[in-house]
Amino acid sequence: MSPATTLAPGGNPELDLFWLAPQLQSLRRARSQGRLPHALLIQDAPGAGGSQLALLAAQTALCTEPEAPCGHCRECLRVAARAHPDLWFLAPEEDSIQIKVAQVRELTDELTLTSHGSAASVAIIDPADMLTPSSANALLKTLEEPRAGVLIVLVAQVSARLPATVLSRCQRLQVRPPSRSECVAWLRERRGEGDWEAVLDVLGNAPLRALAAEPTQLRALRDETESHLTGALSGGLDIAPAAERWAQRDSFELRLLCAENWVTRRIAAQSAGAGSLTELHTATHLPAANSSMNIRGLIRLMDALYELRRLATTTINKSLAVEQLLWQLRAARKS
Ligand SMILES: [Zn+2]
Repeated sequence: MSPATTLAPGGNPELDLFWLAPQLQSLRRARSQGRLPHALLIQDAPGAGGSQLALLAAQTALCTEPEAPCGHCRECLRVAARAHPDLWFLAPEEDSIQIKVAQVRELTDELTLTSHGSAASVAIIDPADMLTPSSANALLKTLEEPRAGVLIVLVAQVSARLPATVLSRCQRLQVRPPSRSECVAWLRERRGEGDWEAVLDVLGNAPLRALAAEPTQLRALRDETESHLTGALSGGLDIAPAAERWAQRDSFELRLLCAENWVTRRIAAQSAGAGSLTELHTATHLPAANSSMNIRGLIRLMDALYELRRLATTTINKSLAVEQLLWQLRAARKS
């Protein structure tokens, strides 16, 4: 058994997620000492493999070999294929940004029954940030008095969204993405040469997202998005057709990321001229000589971008929402 195999829960050795080794090690240790928790909170970072770590945790609980997870027994393979009879997944239903109470109840009903012959029953709730307060409450009883052998794995990027009552019952595992240079080296090894720095500029240190990206296309997308933003700010952009392009399903979220980076750079440039954070929040206009937009407008724009990203998976009218965003940018122009 090679470490590459065990760190590739999807069964694809290309996915050697070396940075998850310490977390896997602590799962192994817990299992060998017979103290796997009943509830595990994986604190994920974007594109850093929290979902893969959740599968590794499920393998650790369900594997039948002494050195669990072995990665190759029947149980491990069924988990990797996401087709194990004692493994449940809970995520928002299509077109929703919430995990509903009814979904949680269905799961907790399943978890009170005995397993289908396995040593454990595992539920992966991913992303757990999408539990509503009532859904989280519906989960509490199972977290408090789980049947023996039940493991609930929550994967969350913003665990602060979960109620303290839930958090206090979970053991935590923090996912830390590899450093920038490790990320670039890892991507080169798998995908060959390419402008991976530019990819990571857009996506952040998110190795799994970057792995799926095409560097040349992503750069072109970034350049076009930035020219739209600059055009909207100067008043020279035909907003409706640009918004149509942004709304295209395959690139919408990437454009929002590019826009966030664009705004972040401008906020950083302007706040470099500001004396203090207080000034950053209260000043209507900052004295940066070349600024073409006030900092309050930039911060509002950033809020609007976050909100759009939050709604990206729903049925909102994306092109209308982008149009409003670009008009907001034009209106925020310093007169
Ligand atoms: Zn196994």
